[in-house]
Amino acid sequence: MTPRDTTYPFLHKDATMDSTRKPTLAIIGYGSQGRAHALNLRDSGFDVTVGLRPGGPTEPKAKGDGFTVKSPAEAVRGADLVAVLTPDMVQPQLYGEVIEPNIAPGACLLFAHGFNVHYGQITPRDDLDVVLVAPKGPGALVRREYEIGRGVPSVYAVHQDRSGRAEERALAYCAGIGGARQNAIRTTFKEETETDLFGEQAVLCGGATRLVQAGWETLVDAGYQPEVAYYECLHELKLIVDLFYEGGITRMHEFISETAQYGALTRGDVVVDGETRARMRQVLAEIQDGTFARQWIAEYAAGNANYRALKQADLEHPIEAVGCRLRANMKWLSTAPAAPAQQTK
Ligand code: NAD
Ligand code: MG
Ligand code: MG
Ligand code: MG
Ligand code: MG
Repeated sequence: MTPRDTTYPFLHKDATMDSTRKPTLAIIGYGSQGRAHALNLRDSGFDVTVGLRPGGPTEPKAKGDGFTVKSPAEAVRGADLVAVLTPDMVQPQLYGEVIEPNIAPGACLLFAHGFNVHYGQITPRDDLDVVLVAPKGPGALVRREYEIGRGVPSVYAVHQDRSGRAEERALAYCAGIGGARQNAIRTTFKEETETDLFGEQAVLCGGATRLVQAGWETLVDAGYQPEVAYYECLHELKLIVDLFYEGGITRMHEFISETAQYGALTRGDVVVDGETRARMRQVLAEIQDGTFARQWIAEYAAGNANYRALKQADLEHPIEAVGCRLRANMKWLSTAPAAPAQQTK
């Protein structure tokens, strides 16, 4: 059990709340972020209710973890703070139909990503505090780091401050999920939204995935064993990223051979060159001018056919089958899936 994090004052100090009782936090959604936030906040001493559609896919999990599960409307009604942790694309309708009609006057509305507020898909009611607490990592890590007494760094922002204590509320939540154990950085909804989208598109998810796939295909097409190519282009990436994480690119250079350093320094720019950087600026420009947001909203509204097809192609990429076979022998990987190539949501 992790000791309560007292870096920041708890929400009951908030002037708009009844100080004779613990504040109630409603976590709406129990997926990647929702589950991690709910568990961490409960362990930090908050009173947490989970709001989920009755019969929804994650209801048994929330109940299994010992939470009181209510319908989203009921959970919102009793809450001092409502954290909106459903997928981004369902939030506008959820806000309009369930949250706005039920949220208490003066309550705090919290997001983990600024997308809907920044792109004008949600205009929160005027009396609410509206804040953002965005952990810079997936939910499973937010939970695991908290449990071992560490935290995933988080950024926070205030969009609307009606109580005069919106920042304090955001920081209390941030502390409660373990995100204030290190550098909690104040940002804006605009900066968080644009940098988060850019990071996941150009570097972390889109960029890294395509770099790995392209490298693996290059080796396999040249006649090398797919398994050896898998180790070189995917498996070993973790070892390099762990060094980045601990000590930046400096640390990587401390640990790799001189031959690897000389090759990296002279060939990295061949792969990521000025044209790559120009395309990165194009990706960023489409985030900044709303092109990406409009395209994603339209895709979702049209039923996601294109999104599903693109994702299926990733799941069916031959590197997945190779990795699945190899990882089956890595018994220490408790999360190894039985088989790839099926979408679960
Ligand atoms: P998710 O897809 O993992 O989980 C969504 C949850 O919402 C599930 O419990 C689902 O059953 C529930 N849900 C779906 N529709 C609903 C509805 N209409 N009413 C009530 N509940 C509904 O979501 P996630 O990836 O945790 O994303 C949640 C938020 O966190 C998003 O704003 C996302 O941008 C942000 N975020 C995610 C990550 C991440 O690593 N996944 C990181 C930082 C921020
Ligand atoms: Mg992110
Ligand atoms: Mg994101
Ligand atoms: Mg190697
Ligand atoms: Mg090597």
